[in-house]
Amino acid sequence: TTPVTSNFIRSIIDDDLATGKHKGIITRFPPEPNGYLHIGHAKSICLNFGLAEDYQGKCNLRFDDTNPEKESVEYAESIQADIKWLGYQWDGEVKWASDYFDRLYAFAEDLIRAGKAFVCELTAEQMREYRGDFSRPGQNSPYRERSVEENLDLFRRMKAGEFPDGSRTLRLKIDMSSPNLNLRDPVFYRIRRAHHIRTGDKWCIYPMYDYTHCISDAVEHITHSLCTLEFEAHRPLYDWVLDNVEIDCHPQQIEFSRAELLYAVTSKRKLNQLVTEGLVSGWDDPRMPTVSGMRRRGYSPEGIRLFAQRCGISKSENVMDYSVLEGAVRETLEAGAPRVMAVLDPIKVTLTNFEPGVTGSRAAPFHPHHPEFGEREVPIAPVIYIDREDFAEVPPAGWQRLTAGGEVRLRYSYVIKCDEVIKDAEGRITELKCSLDPATLGQNPVGRKVKGVIHWVSAEHAIEAEVRLYDRLFTVERPDAVRGEGGEYVDFKQFINPNSLKVVTGYVEACVRDAAPETRYQFERIGYFVTDRDDHLPGGKPVFNRTVGLKDSWAK
Ligand code: ATP
Ligand code: MG
Ligand code: MG
Repeated sequence: TTPVTSNFIRSIIDDDLATGKHKGIITRFPPEPNGYLHIGHAKSICLNFGLAEDYQGKCNLRFDDTNPEKESVEYAESIQADIKWLGYQWDGEVKWASDYFDRLYAFAEDLIRAGKAFVCELTAEQMREYRGDFSRPGQNSPYRERSVEENLDLFRRMKAGEFPDGSRTLRLKIDMSSPNLNLRDPVFYRIRRAHHIRTGDKWCIYPMYDYTHCISDAVEHITHSLCTLEFEAHRPLYDWVLDNVEIDCHPQQIEFSRAELLYAVTSKRKLNQLVTEGLVSGWDDPRMPTVSGMRRRGYSPEGIRLFAQRCGISKSENVMDYSVLEGAVRETLEAGAPRVMAVLDPIKVTLTNFEPGVTGSRAAPFHPHHPEFGEREVPIAPVIYIDREDFAEVPPAGWQRLTAGGEVRLRYSYVIKCDEVIKDAEGRITELKCSLDPATLGQNPVGRKVKGVIHWVSAEHAIEAEVRLYDRLFTVERPDAVRGEGGEYVDFKQFINPNSLKVVTGYVEACVRDAAPETRYQFERIGYFVTDRDDHLPGGKPVFNRTVGLKDSWAK
């Protein structure tokens, strides 16, 4: 479990419990089912569910399903799976804003009867004109003074489907001269003939977010309604609605800053473009900052929760570097992933004095500090592979790997010496001829020190694997904030890193062959890898995704 650090929201909750304002807390996570969850949502999930856990309260999952055209069952299902994978469980049944459509409608009629709402016939463009802006007050709609009877009649006919889409709206009567534009008679019902994933074709009018959200919170007796900072200016409307409908609960809206990640976009709309334009393989492409993408990449739920913890909760900018996310993931994998050897860019090494039946092998633990992970035999054969990076003909100063005429230890095996370097016509090294010191299996050589240890695999015993090496998806820190010469935003998709995926054939110890999908390993000295959730079939050719390297490759 991650240590709890205090923040301003916890202070508010502590006060509310101390003063007896609340006996316990109820939070909610309210996604719109219009895309897959991303790392920003993960922060909100960890906050809402984490608070409920810490304070022995409850956290609801409520789908904010008020925009039928953009919402789908697939999205709703993926969101539930992602929350569970992150390690959280909502209280009771899943809730939906659409569960409250009847009540929302009844409250709307109440507001009309109280003279606080009217049916408006301004077009969207006229409405913008009447609304004014920050520099000038708005003007009242010419439809604002209709009688209660007329408004009720028109609203009922809107509901009954008598009017075309977009021809009428229901608006709150608040204040067209308010400096807060959200209070200038906001629309709270619109006509939209769209099939809804839960209510089907029952409704052709749909309530707006600002009206729906606060009432849904109140119906569920949410105590603290946590949302991101862009809703700060909507809080007066949240409070106005709850002050003007008959409901016995008034949750407190509290805003915190959105988490953003450099070299990524965190907006469902933009992530959706990457998917629909085929720039990634899907929402769960391992390069995507979506929860399902990070899962497929091999990130651990513990690592993502640790990252959310490190983001902290405040009202100031919360832009995080990928290295913080990867660092958190790496920390959680360190103790959790068994270690095996793999060679991703092989050079063939022939052991010239290998003697069948004499040259032996050793058992090796899967984790140096976790004997409970067990061990496996690391077989050796006359031909092995080592990584090209581990040999240098002309070594730089301080080189501790293999070099012509030099010695190195093969991890869990013998010390070898490179006697001959063989090259092709272009001068590329194709093979090394080495001799092993038979007295060095599990023992130090006599009379000399060999410091370097490298990983390797037996060519005969290792299995071929498809290994997908991922890099950052974008080439610039803020792909969606780059402006052209005229000051206009440049399409963020221009900054996709063309080298963000490289697929290689690697050679891995055979003990991974039967690993289930989503099994994590450390490939010693290389990084953390996971068997692909979809493409890896146990017993077949393994498919690994590189989760993260052993060291921070993001450092600037
Ligand atoms: P997007 O802009 O990606 O569509 P959204 O805010 O519209 O995000 P919702 O489905 O409405 O997406 O979000 C559900 C909850 O997650 C909301 O409470 C929202 O404030 C929170 N959330 C969304 N993005 C972030 C983020 N980047 N950081 C923290 N919380 C976030
Ligand atoms: Mg939203
Ligand atoms: Mg959105």
